[in-house]
Amino acid sequence: MMRFEGKVIIVTGAGSGIGKAAATLFAGEGGMVALLDLDSKGVEETSNAITHQGGETLPLVYDVIDEQGVSNAVEQILQHYNRIDVLCNNAGIELSKPLVQTEGHEWDRVLAVNLKGMFLLSKHVLPHMISSGGGTVVNTSSISGLLGWPDSSAYCASKGGVIQLTREMAVEYGPHNIRVNCICPGTTVTPMIDRLLGLEEDPEGTALSIRAMHPLGRFAQPEEIARAMLFLASEEASFVTGAVLPVDGGYTAK
Ligand code: NAP
Repeated sequence: MMRFEGKVIIVTGAGSGIGKAAATLFAGEGGMVALLDLDSKGVEETSNAITHQGGETLPLVYDVIDEQGVSNAVEQILQHYNRIDVLCNNAGIELSKPLVQTEGHEWDRVLAVNLKGMFLLSKHVLPHMISSGGGTVVNTSSISGLLGWPDSSAYCASKGGVIQLTREMAVEYGPHNIRVNCICPGTTVTPMIDRLLGLEEDPEGTALSIRAMHPLGRFAQPEEIARAMLFLASEEASFVTGAVLPVDGGYTAK
């Protein structure tokens, strides 16, 4: 029996990087995956790749910070699959700027996408999990939610917020048989990191020094992060809730 046979999973940010890898692995284990992303081309590519392997998807193009859109997306998923078992709140954006140069609207956008988006998806999905007897939520934080990283005030604040939101949700919804956990990835080879390295004067030199900060001496592949998401969403983690799991090659162990 595959771990997610008959389960309905929502993955936000499924059009790229870690979300794409998670959606692909969930589908490979029998899950029916609602792919939610702003990027219509990315969603289509993920959907096509999964369908090509015989998997089942529902591609949806929505902005996680648009509450009406989030509500419509959840209704569409329920009309299509009639249930929701797993919510992976994974969509996120970065901003690399010193705090004193960060504009108010840039701060607001990072906090909105990385934190409010999780709140909105959770607000609209949890009532259905409650009425169906339970479910699981996996939120994507970051090593930047655990430690400081220069030029990342909005990002670090948003990811720290994800950790506390996770704990709050675990406590509030545990009695409804809903487990809520989060992962804190280390640096992972995705378009997000390509974009950040592209801003550096010496992208290769910067990449080398960031790799060296991870005791395993390398970046993660998106599938290595996604496998931890699947573990937390699966029955193997049936007594795990409120956990903050670094998946970081040892970065935060130092
Ligand atoms: P990515 O490759 O940029 O993928 C993120 C996806 O989310 C993109 O398809 C993006 O669409 C989408 N998205 C952005 N804003 C959205 C919104 N408002 N509504 C719906 N979708 C939206 O990034 P990633 O590296 O896979 O990151 C996934 C998560 O892991 C993020 O939460 C990130 O903070 C976290 N993380 C990443 C790393 C890393 O090293 N890569 C490390 C720690 C944590 P667009 O392309 O159109 O913006």
